[in-house]
Amino acid sequence: MNVPLLDLKAQYATLKDKMMPAIEEVMEAQWFIGGPNVTALEEAVAEYSGCSKGIGVSSGTDALLASLMVLDIGQGDEVITTPFTFFATVGSIWRTGARPVFVDIEPDTYNIDPAKIEAAVTENTKAIIPVHLYGQMCDMDPIMAIAEKHNLYVIEDAAQSIGSTYKGRKAGSIGTTGCFSFFPSKNLGCNGDGGMVVTNDVELGDKIAMFRNHGMQPKYFHKFIGGNFRLDALQAAALLVKLPHLEGWSAGRRANAARYNELLADCDEVTTPVIREENVTIFNQYVIRVPNRDACKQFILDAGIGCDVYYPLCLHQQECFAPLGYNDGDFPVSEQAATEVIALPIYSELTDEQIQYVAGKVKEFIAG
Ligand SMILES: *Cc1c(COP(=O)(O)O)cnc(C)c1O
Repeated sequence: MNVPLLDLKAQYATLKDKMMPAIEEVMEAQWFIGGPNVTALEEAVAEYSGCSKGIGVSSGTDALLASLMVLDIGQGDEVITTPFTFFATVGSIWRTGARPVFVDIEPDTYNIDPAKIEAAVTENTKAIIPVHLYGQMCDMDPIMAIAEKHNLYVIEDAAQSIGSTYKGRKAGSIGTTGCFSFFPSKNLGCNGDGGMVVTNDVELGDKIAMFRNHGMQPKYFHKFIGGNFRLDALQAAALLVKLPHLEGWSAGRRANAARYNELLADCDEVTTPVIREENVTIFNQYVIRVPNRDACKQFILDAGIGCDVYYPLCLHQQECFAPLGYNDGDFPVSEQAATEVIALPIYSELTDEQIQYVAGKVKEFIAG
């Protein structure tokens, strides 16, 4: 049996009837930058996320970069984040000239450990970027309390967590800004690259909207230096077709996760995902811990099952961040996770037969 890690063709088959006319409408209008689709998507995503404003941007990476730049974070500043995330979180901090400062993660959720944040705060700290990894939100109450106490911005990296909740509050709605990615493998993916910043600070949102278009308003009058960080109309039209399905897809992923949990429950060597009681996750990834992870990955791949490791090397250990001066062993919880985690197929169109096959192969590996 073949089970891909993600089957976007299966999703597209269910959407084609609506997707093609939506794309064609943009083609007929020949209005590709900004316009009604982009505005409608911004309003819809803002509302879905419990925010007063959404600003479509070119990617999740640019959502992070635009947030940091508009908040005037740069040279001499420090930004606290996790070393166990996708590169873009940390790359964005670096690109502003600010210094990324790492704080280790919780061993069960893989999210930044709030209990370790305050020790990393200095007089230069300007912001915290909590990353809601794999679809589950960080423990935001203590993070917001630290931010308030030290007057810090909070930029939620919600690239993997659109629609997730923490104590009933949506990802992206708690911090200063929230950053979404519409990369095709995210729960809400477009037909290329795209992203969005959401915020409840209308003034800040207006500034980000200008920033993503060269700081321009009105046309050819530039109040500050921004760039081209725009989301295009073809992507917005595609996302408007997909957004109504997002809740259903995420529910499907949760149901599949529950099925995996059940099938793997009698396997002590496998650690299934821990989702806190106050959280509803969207399972962008279903990540387990296994002994002999690399051998397990090969065994699963050989059985025709797609799987991957998010992420095999922590950010403080990356060659490009050597100038930060961190060493192996500085963040032991993250480093251990990097050697043990593996993501299994979790997309909503999976059949029960496929889930049973995947879980069976994991157990077969463990049994030796
Ligand atoms: C995908 C992702 C990003 C970057 O989003 P892009 O749209 O690919 O630029 C940033 N942070 C995290 C945690 C991500 O998973």
